[in-house]
Amino acid sequence: MTNSEELWKEANKLFAGGVNSPVRAAVKPFPFFVERGKGAIIYTVEGKRLIDYVLGYGPLILGHSPDSVKEKLIKQLDKGWLFGTPSELEIELARKITSHIPSAQKVRFVNSGTEATMNAIRLARGYTKRSKILKFNGNYHGSHDYVLIEAGSAATEYSIPTSDGIPVEIIKTVEVCEFNDLDCVNSKLKKEDVAGVIVEPIMGNSGVILPEKEFLKGLRELTRTYNSLLIFDEVITGFRVSIGGAQTLYQIYPDITTLGKIIGGGLPIGAIAGKADIIDNFTPSGKVFNAGTFNANPLSMAAGIATIEELEKGYPYNIANKAAKAIVEELENIIKVKHTINHISSMFQIFFGVDNIKNYSDVKKANREYYMRLHELLLREGVFIPPSQYETIFTSASHDNDIVNETLYKFKKVISELM
Ligand code: PMP
Repeated sequence: MTNSEELWKEANKLFAGGVNSPVRAAVKPFPFFVERGKGAIIYTVEGKRLIDYVLGYGPLILGHSPDSVKEKLIKQLDKGWLFGTPSELEIELARKITSHIPSAQKVRFVNSGTEATMNAIRLARGYTKRSKILKFNGNYHGSHDYVLIEAGSAATEYSIPTSDGIPVEIIKTVEVCEFNDLDCVNSKLKKEDVAGVIVEPIMGNSGVILPEKEFLKGLRELTRTYNSLLIFDEVITGFRVSIGGAQTLYQIYPDITTLGKIIGGGLPIGAIAGKADIIDNFTPSGKVFNAGTFNANPLSMAAGIATIEELEKGYPYNIANKAAKAIVEELENIIKVKHTINHISSMFQIFFGVDNIKNYSDVKKANREYYMRLHELLLREGVFIPPSQYETIFTSASHDNDIVNETLYKFKKVISELM
């Protein structure tokens, strides 16, 4: 018989820490292994039913295996899945991206958010002929050397915000400010020749943290003043907080946007988008090298197109946003201890023991043990929220009223136990 405990023992013989991506190991006493998912529900190999608020860490805005995406994938499987040539699908997906993301005129497809930010940074350096980068404390931009410096997400969960193995020479090229601190940005840009400022316009990797009113506007103005490029990392927020991402919501337009997650409909993807004269610096038209065997692979393109076609109908945002709002409002009623919930659209996070979270240092003051206890109790009751304070709780178009009501019933039960 296969069960998660036995699989976990096998996995530990084969993988570092038993997993292939660290936060998966944060589920205690051992991770559950998933057999299948449909809509808002996943089933473990033991057949346990869980309402899913992790959603693959963000891509699954329609929920698990939606028919629309599945049908398009099956059609593509019939035709083949890798040609090493251009295909019409990449034009279709790029047209969707450029029509919805205001600052995107041209696109380069890659295979992950990590590749997207790595190439965006190289592009900013190549374009400006400068080498320094400015990032923000607790922002996470993937797992490459340029950005694993004061990083959020699993890098913080495992207490290695700056990873071992990154040459000091690279660390020295990265300046770090606190999110929402424009004075710091101003002084760094004044002092150094910075190629680009990379930011999650809404932080989703130290829990959820919203930009203060003038922050993004200030970043736009300062980067213009100092001839630095502004890079919005919209790997989470792109096509989630609105169909045009955070830039549409706040009407602040970066020079380069990195995308991932939702635009691949649950298959591996990343993209660097921006003004034509910047993107044209990529090979072969320019001298900033990028290439990839799997770039613009037909399956990711097909799943991305099918997902965005659904998003264009509007209903996924209505349902997902309504679900998050209903849950957050009810949690505000039932949580009686000091806490903060940061929320926007279909993403939120709960922080205990604090009453204002505006940057990473604030998050570090939250009672993380309390959050983890909430995660454990909810899991026991059949609700899966991220096993880390430094991740985002997501809702999807499959989180309808029944799912929300069931979730709230379970929340009420465990919150009284938690108190
Ligand atoms: N940027 C952001 C904002 C992310 O949230 C993530 C992943 N959570 C990445 C980049 C890296 O994406 P990937 O895991 O696809 O490499």
